[in-house]
Amino acid sequence: MVERPIDLDALALRSGAAERIELDLEPEPPAAGGGGLTLGSTPVAARIDVSRTSSGWALRLRAGVVVLAECARCLGPARLELEIDVREVEQGEADDPDLRSPYVADGLLEPARWLRDAIVLALPDRVLCREDCAGLCAVCGVSLNEVDPATHVHDPEPDPRFAKLRDLLG
Ligand SMILES: [Zn+2]
Ligand SMILES: [Zn+2]
Repeated sequence: MVERPIDLDALALRSGAAERIELDLEPEPPAAGGGGLTLGSTPVAARIDVSRTSSGWALRLRAGVVVLAECARCLGPARLELEIDVREVEQGEADDPDLRSPYVADGLLEPARWLRDAIVLALPDRVLCREDCAGLCAVCGVSLNEVDPATHVHDPEPDPRFAKLRDLLG
């Protein structure tokens, strides 16, 4: 699927006018966070509001995104639901980089690239399967989410000095 840029000029909006565009986007999966991330449901239904300002455009992108990843703590599957809601300002003539959007060139908006970057920014530093993920048992590696931590205990390593004592007494 080839993402076609949105031709903002072709919308022919007068200053102060706005238009809402609903479209399906297929952004590249974000590679952030080290682990492999995939998008749970593609294409992503996105909504873009384009407002014509006196010297450019104000843009708003909204989309609900599901990200599938590996839990950083227990290595099990993690599913994140992100509500993307980001804005950009594009004033083609402006020298101030704050007034130029990196997703607009020559009046063409690239919505899939914008959405991909917005997903990267919305991701937490560590993706967890749940807020209170118990992680893995340090001794046997079993996921502590799947066993009762109260009963999942290992006998402490027998102290080698006691073993020697037992030998002497035996
Ligand atoms: Zn986990
Ligand atoms: Zn264990």
